[in-house]
Amino acid sequence: MKLFDLSGRVAVVTGGNGGIGLGMARGLAAAGAAVMVAGRNPEKSAAAVRALRELGAKAESIEADVTREEDCRAMAAAAVERLGGLTILVNNAGTNVRKRPEEYSLAEWHRVLDTNLTSAFMATQAVYPAMKKAGFGKIINIGSMLSIFGGTAHAVYGASKGGIVQLTRSVATSWARDNIQVNAVLPGWIDTDLTRAARRDIEGLHDRVLARTPAGRWGDPADFAGIAVFLASAASDFITGAAIPVDGGFSVQV
Ligand code: NDP
Repeated sequence: MKLFDLSGRVAVVTGGNGGIGLGMARGLAAAGAAVMVAGRNPEKSAAAVRALRELGAKAESIEADVTREEDCRAMAAAAVERLGGLTILVNNAGTNVRKRPEEYSLAEWHRVLDTNLTSAFMATQAVYPAMKKAGFGKIINIGSMLSIFGGTAHAVYGASKGGIVQLTRSVATSWARDNIQVNAVLPGWIDTDLTRAARRDIEGLHDRVLARTPAGRWGDPADFAGIAVFLASAASDFITGAAIPVDGGFSVQV
């Protein structure tokens, strides 16, 4: 179906070497996009590139720490040089430090904000020239249920993910006339390295999530392939500034 065809499009996916990022990268690759995986861990990135190539896609990786502005610029340049362009950016890299607000150090605040929010702003700035030149672009930012709700151990993560939604809305309005659509995806509870650690540390979390999620299951990275293709394709050309939950109904049940 042409509406969802990504042939000829090139995506940078930060943290595309694992979890939700790889789930999205797989969707983009299967729909025909070439993918540049950006992450810190070269072994994980090499394995992700192999998996994407097995889907028949062009795929490359770059070692990048998204908290560094020069790395954000380098990943945009690498997509243009090695894959021939850059029309899709997925700002997915993220981290969390679960602590009550009174226990947080300022260094931890900066680490979480830099990784989850400042990185998205720097990458967004870095991809603008290529998208402007192409005459179109798609930016997909990863928020969270903590973009909507609060939590006792989530003041800082929630600040970063709330910020992601507001960043999305303002960049969407700024660049709408450039034909660049900017949207956010808000995952519910998804089975990844990030939440495996939380499940290990927080007693009862696994069952609480099952009970609270109308779909009755944890999400899987594969659940993000479809939304990635939709928001990266012509199918979503009149959708911008939206924040779309992908949560099995978590955010709509009292
Ligand atoms: P993972 O820990 O599996 O993936 C996080 C990815 O981010 C890794 O691939 C990691 O790559 C990359 N990353 C982290 N820090 C940096 C950095 N400084 N520079 C470059 N890459 C970095 O977690 P998830 O897949 O669960 O998380 C992906 C996104 O989804 C995050 O933004 C997270 O906040 C969000 N999210 C996840 C939810 C869930 O339930 N899992 C729920 C809501 C939101 P590397 O190892 O190479 O550094």
